[in-house]
Amino acid sequence: MVFYRKFRPQTIEELDSKEVREKLYNALKSPEISHAFLFTGPKGLGKTSAARIVAKSLNCEKKTKGIEPCNKCNQCISITNGTNMDVLEIDGASNRGIDEIRDLREKIKLSPMSARKKIYIIDEVHMLTAEAFNALLKTLEEPPSHVVFILCTTEPHKVPATILSRCLRMQFKKATEEELIRSFERIIKKEKLNGEKNALRLIANLSDGSFRDGVKILEEMAQVARNKKITEELVQKNYLIASIQYQIAQVIRSFEEKNTKKALEVVAKLTSEGVEMGHFLQGLIETLHNSLLLKVGVELAGDSAFIIDNSKLEVREIKRLIELLSVAKSELKYAVLPQIPLELVIIEWCSFIRDPVPVFLPENRSSASSQIGVAKSPSDHAPQLTASPVKKDTVNIVQQDIAKYSENDALWNALIDKVKTYNHSIAGVLRGCNIKNYDGKLLLLETNFKFHKDKLGEIKTKEIIEKACQEVTRKNVKIIVELKKPA
Ligand SMILES: [Zn+2]
Repeated sequence: MVFYRKFRPQTIEELDSKEVREKLYNALKSPEISHAFLFTGPKGLGKTSAARIVAKSLNCEKKTKGIEPCNKCNQCISITNGTNMDVLEIDGASNRGIDEIRDLREKIKLSPMSARKKIYIIDEVHMLTAEAFNALLKTLEEPPSHVVFILCTTEPHKVPATILSRCLRMQFKKATEEELIRSFERIIKKEKLNGEKNALRLIANLSDGSFRDGVKILEEMAQVARNKKITEELVQKNYLIASIQYQIAQVIRSFEEKNTKKALEVVAKLTSEGVEMGHFLQGLIETLHNSLLLKVGVELAGDSAFIIDNSKLEVREIKRLIELLSVAKSELKYAVLPQIPLELVIIEWCSFIRDPVPVFLPENRSSASSQIGVAKSPSDHAPQLTASPVKKDTVNIVQQDIAKYSENDALWNALIDKVKTYNHSIAGVLRGCNIKNYDGKLLLLETNFKFHKDKLGEIKTKEIIEKACQEVTRKNVKIIVELKKPA
């Protein structure tokens, strides 16, 4: 992020938010300068930059326009560099205890070394402990005239009201389109770039009110344009591809961490942006396929756009994900909402497939149904949805069936989901069963409950399952349901 650092605002005039600029002009013009400022708002909106500008404005040796810092004198330069002994930046998250604040109170009494004012910038101030807040409050009640506090926080509701009432508060909000464009134009002018107004507007829209994100996109686009004009078309083409690659990487990282929430958030974002799901799934599968080839030592031919560095997934995990996602892709045309097949893979992978023992073992399926109120069979002692001690026979089942199971697993989930589109209660009954054998022609199901066997044996029910199975496998498959023999 070269541009972001290079073009960090150095004067009040250069601050991005109009509201903040005006408030600061007024606050610093007044003969009675406040002893404490509180800057609130989300990350990336320039609170720390503004705090340093205030420090410079208060200590500059040759102020221009009354309050703007010159950025040339010793005070200004050392504050910009972070070497000024009288301007102290404290991270509230790592200095949150009473000892640190007591220490601070002792030192506050001493006069500044070279500056007019001693400035304490406390970042993430909401992280301070209650005792530390008390100590800080005492200082704020009777501050020495040479001290100014600038408190910054993303979570003002966690700052005690007694502190809030003693601060001049300024809220940093998400930037408007106009404010973002103003900042981009400042950079474009200084870097002698050539950018269409519509391209800047599109970048502003892509950056969701964050200057930091917007400037980052502008920088990328300047690199892609290579001295030529940054056009709307160029941004559209490059940013959307870059964005999809980025989202694919996010989903794969979530698969590695089994982070359902994070992965589903990406899908929600894609949906809201109107990304075509088939295209995204294609890219995701291609990326995993490339990872798989790299992992087994095959060099990739050509230059694929879809590559992820150092995936932590193992070969068999990647193989499994490709299978699940391929089923999801083929399911896409039947899906009620286009995001559903991918969401189901995410939930399945992150929540239900555990290593080395998958949770949805044949036995666990029956205990899952016992939880929804179906009578337990004698062989079904303890529910095993959690990682409770694994029963001996469960281990045997895993060892015998793990290979077969993982092959049938994708089919089973796809089948249940397909049946669900016809009839929810049949899908519910199927969840209480498991595949005993499948050879491409015959699907042998097993259940612990006679009630399930009878229900699935009904002609209408069988027709639905066979129809769903035909759609998922593209084969005519006969279904047989057996009652599981007691262990
Ligand atoms: Zn100066």
